[in-house]
Amino acid sequence: MILESAAVGPFFKNGFILGCERTRKAVFIDPGDEVDQLLAFVKAERLDVTHILLTHAHVDHVSGVARAKRALGAPVHLHRDDQVFYDNAVKTGALFGLQVEAPPPVDRYYEGTDPIRFGDHAVAVHHTPGHAPGGVCLVVTPGVTGAGVPSLFVGDTLFAGSIGRSDLPGSDYQTLMRSITEVLFAFDDAAPVFPGHGPETTIGHERRTNPFVLEYLATRTR
Ligand SMILES: [Zn+2]
Ligand SMILES: [Zn+2]
Repeated sequence: MILESAAVGPFFKNGFILGCERTRKAVFIDPGDEVDQLLAFVKAERLDVTHILLTHAHVDHVSGVARAKRALGAPVHLHRDDQVFYDNAVKTGALFGLQVEAPPPVDRYYEGTDPIRFGDHAVAVHHTPGHAPGGVCLVVTPGVTGAGVPSLFVGDTLFAGSIGRSDLPGSDYQTLMRSITEVLFAFDDAAPVFPGHGPETTIGHERRTNPFVLEYLATRTR
């Protein structure tokens, strides 16, 4: 699978392009301020982006959606419970002193169990609220069979050595920890994790060493 990521200031939020080597079909995850870099990659690699997939709708994850949609024409997917953040992206950007272009209407809400396909790969959507009510983990399986270790694009739910904020409007700590320990940790230790900010990690590494998760699990068993 082709994988390219980029992040720029002020938020250093990771945007991702995932592509199928055989068919050149691709998806764009969380277009933000790095959108031009990733669009240049799409062009250079002659990829055909068929879906724009959002892990949640905080402004740093959607500030590039308008440009991406204009360039690619692909449908925008979001979880219904994050619509309010999506609608407020321009206002929220202004609070940070940033000019954000209003994102175009959402084309599809994540619902049902059908995976989203790009070439030989498929994306399954798992609801992981807590950081944002409509937060999802995008589970990308490597081949047509769905066998093998999936890659997890977790948005701001889990970071390498840290966890997402739960002090924002619509956030909830207990819900966040349940999403991490029950939804994400159901995956294999070997599963690579690509967070919305910072470096990649694995489920096993976070299960063993993430201090916030270990603290939560310790209080639960006390
Ligand atoms: Zn966020
Ligand atoms: Zn973020």
